[in-house]
Amino acid sequence: MTIKLYNTKTRSKEVFVPIAEGTARMYVCGPTVYDRAHIGNARAVVVFDMLYRLLRHEFGKDNVRYVRNFTDVDDKINARAAETGRAISDITEETIGWFLDDMGALGALEPTDAPRATNYIAQMVSMIKELIAKGHAYEAEGHVLFKVRSYADYGKLSGRSVDDMIAGARVEVAPYKEDPMDFVMWKPSSDDLPGWESPWGRGRPGWHIECSAMAFDLLGDRFDIHGGGNDLTFPHHENEIAQSKCAGHDFANVWMHNEMLQVEGKKMSKSLGNFFTVRDLLDQGVAGEVIRFVMLSTHYRKPMDWTQKKRDEAEKTLRKWFHMCVQVSTAENPGEGVVEALRDDLNTPKAISEMHGLARGIDWDGKDIAKLRASLIFLGIYREEDFASSDLVSNRDERVDAKIKDLMSQRFQLREVKAYESADKIRSGLIAAGVEIREEKDSYSYNLGPSFDASKLKEIK
Ligand code: AMP
Ligand code: ZN
Repeated sequence: MTIKLYNTKTRSKEVFVPIAEGTARMYVCGPTVYDRAHIGNARAVVVFDMLYRLLRHEFGKDNVRYVRNFTDVDDKINARAAETGRAISDITEETIGWFLDDMGALGALEPTDAPRATNYIAQMVSMIKELIAKGHAYEAEGHVLFKVRSYADYGKLSGRSVDDMIAGARVEVAPYKEDPMDFVMWKPSSDDLPGWESPWGRGRPGWHIECSAMAFDLLGDRFDIHGGGNDLTFPHHENEIAQSKCAGHDFANVWMHNEMLQVEGKKMSKSLGNFFTVRDLLDQGVAGEVIRFVMLSTHYRKPMDWTQKKRDEAEKTLRKWFHMCVQVSTAENPGEGVVEALRDDLNTPKAISEMHGLARGIDWDGKDIAKLRASLIFLGIYREEDFASSDLVSNRDERVDAKIKDLMSQRFQLREVKAYESADKIRSGLIAAGVEIREEKDSYSYNLGPSFDASKLKEIK
């Protein structure tokens, strides 16, 4: 089966050819751990989780390695510790726990490896030493800087020249830099800041070197896919590439970037009051499945807008689908159209429209519904086979089922006494409420169809 992925590096959709046949290895830039993840952060997690699920489906669970780091050394963490008077390790531990819980609520699987930067300082130091030895980096006032102009291909990923990038970026000018574009790989730490001994004195790493060093340590000289949000393309990913290539590694084959998330058409920001964490939404009673479904309804390379309307519609759709799914016991594979859509550069909106098609099909043997259920599981919208335990299903089924059964038993009694008109009124009322009924001589079965509306049951007399 062919998977096609859009490669930022070549600016085209390409057939994915793994480096080692039948396997895939992927690195995705993970969070800096000082605060709850917001829903923008969650988009990248959900997108690459979907890719991970697709790769596992194609190559088998044991043949996919997925590394996502935790940046647990960073000036934002140091600032949070200073503000709150808390220990850095308390903040990072707590935030990592929150992140895993919140992303778990969105159905994100844990990657195969979740390295913490602070456990890879030795590997970073060794890569920095190598870059100095090869003339790609220099030491100045306790800092080590990467010499951007020593790497001719700098800017290729984003398709821009170094000069354009200088013009457009807020590059930090510092007296110890030979060139304003040069970036920090190591910087000195005062006694009150986290630091490690190094050939350049006590200090801490810059952000970019982390990913280069951890990717090399865990995935080796070259690997298949590198992912992240498109705000990371420059400078973070350009810098990762420059460091890794100049240290003599092939690095990533395919570069994938998700677009940003907005809220009600505006950039999410605390000052606009439209900033939410995933936890805020969960605490408001928005199911994790709904958040994930909304995220997957937009293709990852398009900007996505989080809106109340989408959230309400997603909830309605999932309630309907889950109710249908709890009623079938047939095991099935995900719909072929669903899997095909995902193989085409993770076309999740197409996959979802295929699922609407499955939900619309009236099939009394329940095959389409079972395929819909398997598709929901494949998309990570529901992880277990047991839909009945979802908040989107509970507290409702028994009452609805009791009501339908009561109405049907009234209908059979009315037929017994030849009150056909009243009996048929019940049947047409059920159909108008979206209940799909199949009757035998003296038995029946039913499904809640896609247009099922529980409130209409009350009107049936
Ligand atoms: P930050 O919170 O800016 O440190 O970003 C951490 C991660 O979240 C990065 O991978 C970003 O690409 C991603 N990210 C931040 N803001 C958004 C957003 N509005 N939409 C999508 N991804 C985002
Ligand atoms: Zn990175």
